[in-house]
Amino acid sequence: MGEDCPVFENLFEFCQIYAGGTIDAARRLNNQISDIAINWAGGLHHAKKCEASGFCYINDLVLGILELLKYHARVLYIDIDVHHGDGVEEAFYFTDRVMTVSFHKYGDMFFPGTGDVKEVGEKEGKYYAINVPLKDGIDDASFTRLFKTIVSKVVETYQPGAIVLQCGADSLAGDRLGCFNLSIDGHAQCVRIVKKFNLPLLVTGGGGYTKENVARCWAVETGVLLDTELPNEIPDNDYIKYFSPDFSLKINTVNMENLNSKTYLSTIKMQVLESLRAIQHAPSVQMHEVPPDFYIPDIDEDELNPDERMDQHTQDKQIQRDEEYYDGDNDNDHEMEEAG
Ligand SMILES: [Zn+2]
Repeated sequence: MGEDCPVFENLFEFCQIYAGGTIDAARRLNNQISDIAINWAGGLHHAKKCEASGFCYINDLVLGILELLKYHARVLYIDIDVHHGDGVEEAFYFTDRVMTVSFHKYGDMFFPGTGDVKEVGEKEGKYYAINVPLKDGIDDASFTRLFKTIVSKVVETYQPGAIVLQCGADSLAGDRLGCFNLSIDGHAQCVRIVKKFNLPLLVTGGGGYTKENVARCWAVETGVLLDTELPNEIPDNDYIKYFSPDFSLKINTVNMENLNSKTYLSTIKMQVLESLRAIQHAPSVQMHEVPPDFYIPDIDEDELNPDERMDQHTQDKQIQRDEEYYDGDNDNDHEMEEAG
């Protein structure tokens, strides 16, 4: 592991929680328990099969997509983090069952250094990886226009059965590591565009290094996904001091030059549309033997008190399986003794 992936206490449990969340989100979509499932803790798109990279240890997105592939012939992955979604692209670089589309900063040795428009996939996967390399300072208008054009064409051509959207918030203006100039409205507009396709949708977080803006962004996007407009004034809460001085939900963009000229953006767009034309219309796949579903706990979530916060991880710990032995009144050993 490199220095950007430090080992810390409870690292494994951390991985279990965020990766389990994305797998569970996929399972919910597969079983039609949800139309849209969100895991803001997930979206760690840089992790490779055998390598932790860029703060990412386990690639939950890959695990979630594999789960969706049990039910869907084609899954579309879209990534609006400022960094290239290299781990997800690499995992599915040789297959047409997953199309990956990543919008990111490229050039000037920006991490992770991959994601050129010429990287399009190989073998069966040729033309099923799309990269939209951008320069510093891209603004709402040019980003959302390009996003809409490319993603709409991809959905029309590829006809995915489900979509995974990585909403890294480091593409926002003023991010400590990022260099784009998107407002929260611009970022959320991409979520709105994807939601309109009305396909099973798995939404995750990702990067984001100006943390109060990350919280703002994902709050607004949760609202978008729930068709709920949130008031701009942040209500009083335990963390309100982080949102001073104006305590507002929306952020301003910054005064910086957009280095993406109209000519540059139009060239990139043409190259992407050109390679889309090369692919077969919605490839059909033979479904091979499908691995079984995960164990589904029989908790009726509607009966839980929504004001009592209990995360999935705690809930899982409370589920007692029949075949396991427990101490106390429900101790199976005890019952067996009595029966014997
Ligand atoms: Zn990032």
